[in-house]
Amino acid sequence: MQDKGAPTGAILQRDKKTYAIVPRTPVGLVTPDVLEALARVGRKFEIPIMKITSGQRIALVGLEKDQVDEVWADLKMDVGPAVGLCVHYIQACPGTEVCKFGLRDSLGFGLELEELFVGKALPAKMKVGVSGCTMCCAESYVRDIGLIGKRKGWTMVVGGNASGRPRIADVLAEELTRAEATELVGRFIEYYRENSNKRSRSSMLLKKVGIDAVKSAIL
Ligand code: SF4
Repeated sequence: MQDKGAPTGAILQRDKKTYAIVPRTPVGLVTPDVLEALARVGRKFEIPIMKITSGQRIALVGLEKDQVDEVWADLKMDVGPAVGLCVHYIQACPGTEVCKFGLRDSLGFGLELEELFVGKALPAKMKVGVSGCTMCCAESYVRDIGLIGKRKGWTMVVGGNASGRPRIADVLAEELTRAEATELVGRFIEYYRENSNKRSRSSMLLKKVGIDAVKSAIL
């Protein structure tokens, strides 16, 4: 729930009194310093709920309004977009960095995409999943944009959604290098921004225009 008078990066909760914040942890990677900072503010401000989210982040829930700025100052972390009309997050599986099945560097690619696109203003929220092989542990087929690592390169899928009206994404292109895939992600985001109505997710756009129209516009 959004509230016009909310402090920086704070989301009003259902009690209409307390707030949640979501610090930015790109592709779910954390360090001992990040975890210590979170634990420190959790204790200091007696934060009642600290919850790992589906976007590979840790939400701090139940803050009083006047605590929010102080918590951010203490954390020294950026805001992870969680309710605005923009790219919310890039989730990524471990890929070749760790996983024995990995065919591509999904973590490195996810981090690169995070830097480039998270927070970019759009007609609706957008989620991206980068998987290092066809097992798709980063849920690529049910994300607005999905990348899937294969032996011959990256497959890019678009228009997926895991919501109450789930939709499997359509294949936009295959055998892409990482640079080609990065460029195509940018082109698809622009296409979506120019052709979609406010609050209409990419799945609705794909349902309306079909993948062939997207291909002929941006490939
Ligand atoms: S998608 Fe593939 S590479 Fe990524 S975690 Fe799953 S099995 Fe491993």
